[in-house]
Amino acid sequence: MFTLSSSCGPWEANCYLVGAADSDECVLVDVGMDASSAVEKLLAESGRKLVAVLASHGHLDHVADAQAVADAHGVPVWIHPADRPLLSDPVAGLGPQLAPLVEALYGSTSRLEPVQVCEWTDGAHQDLAGVSWTVIHAPGHTPGSVLLHATDGATAQLFSGDVLFAGSIGRTDLPGGSMEEMMATLRDVVLPLPYDLAVLPGHGGATTIGRECATNPYIRLALKELSS
Ligand SMILES: [Zn+2]
Ligand SMILES: [Zn+2]
Repeated sequence: MFTLSSSCGPWEANCYLVGAADSDECVLVDVGMDASSAVEKLLAESGRKLVAVLASHGHLDHVADAQAVADAHGVPVWIHPADRPLLSDPVAGLGPQLAPLVEALYGSTSRLEPVQVCEWTDGAHQDLAGVSWTVIHAPGHTPGSVLLHATDGATAQLFSGDVLFAGSIGRTDLPGGSMEEMMATLRDVVLPLPYDLAVLPGHGGATTIGRECATNPYIRLALKELSS
């Protein structure tokens, strides 16, 4: 699989460009704050045609530039329906105390929805850029967080958004977040994944399911829940 990445914006969210090795197409996973120029650089570097923008969830640091990039390229933004309202109302995902920050950054607290929005359904398969994508609903960080499992037959990668990081998990104290749902996601969704599966998180470096099972304190807790 062909993957390029760039970390964008003040919260250094990862934006990934992904496609099959033998495809001339690509998708972008998480086009967040200040991502537009980085994205155009990645697209130029890859020489590939953009066919879709995929959102791991609806927080501003992962979708802020999704509308601009998707509309400029005439492609859809894929997002889970539970997080779709955050595309046009980012404050709903951050809390009213962050409204002044959103206003300062964008001159308004409301944002345009992309022209084309497609909604993920749990367990759905989608073929994009020569890669087979499987959507796994993984609430807890936000109600519409998903894990995106991508495979080209030879290799597989999991784009984990803000659900799972190397050594940690996403926060659950923002609106719509739930520690109880997060623990259920870790126990019932993350733990059954193959140990050798590569994980590309929404922030920070790559890891594997096996490494997180061995070292991540939250996954260790989920493992303990499972065995008790
Ligand atoms: Zn987030
Ligand atoms: Zn984030």
